Amino acid sequence: MRLPAFAVAMLRRRELPSGGSLPVFPDSEGGWRDPSNTSRDLRNARGSEDFAWVTSHVFRKTAATELDRAGLSARQIADQLGHSRVSMTQDGYLGRKIRNAQVGHFAIRTDGIVKFYRVKLVTAGSWAGKVFVDAQASEDFHPVKTPATLTMVLTAILANPHAAEELYGQELGQCYRCNRTLTDETSRALGIGPECRSKL
Ligand SMILES: [Zn+2]
Repeated sequence: MRLPAFAVAMLRRRELPSGGSLPVFPDSEGGWRDPSNTSRDLRNARGSEDFAWVTSHVFRKTAATELDRAGLSARQIADQLGHSRVSMTQDGYLGRKIRNAQVGHFAIRTDGIVKFYRVKLVTAGSWAGKVFVDAQASEDFHPVKTPATLTMVLTAILANPHAAEELYGQELGQCYRCNRTLTDETSRALGIGPECRSKL
């Protein structure tokens, strides 16, 4: 695992006194910390209820966000997070990016062939927060289940979400937001109908 320079410096500072044989983050006696004491310290450090959402897991997500901003691939981010499968990163992290981008209809051109997809976000129930992708063939939608294909599709969409949704509307003549048929020239060029345009 690669560490940022500040973390390396901090770990070196903490390692030297113990000679590398004791915990890097010890308890007050110099021994191993109790998990519940660590949780309490984190609660004390974050303070008011306004920051109750800041759990140690949030820092993991922040790390993933920063690594993505730095231009690392989904594979590299997965390695850093300790995910054995890229699909775990894609489910949790790329899925969140898709939410931020938007949910709707997208098209991807691979080797000159255009394929159409619908991206759905479940908002309630035990699947809440999960992103599902369907491949569109004519009027029918078929779930994309293979993790490798799912990662490929989401990565291609995320490379340029807006271009992918425009391509959907332009190639299919259907609005990338509501899926209705685009009848006027302007809407077909933009890939989106006038009603959905007014809501952008
Ligand atoms: Zn529309």
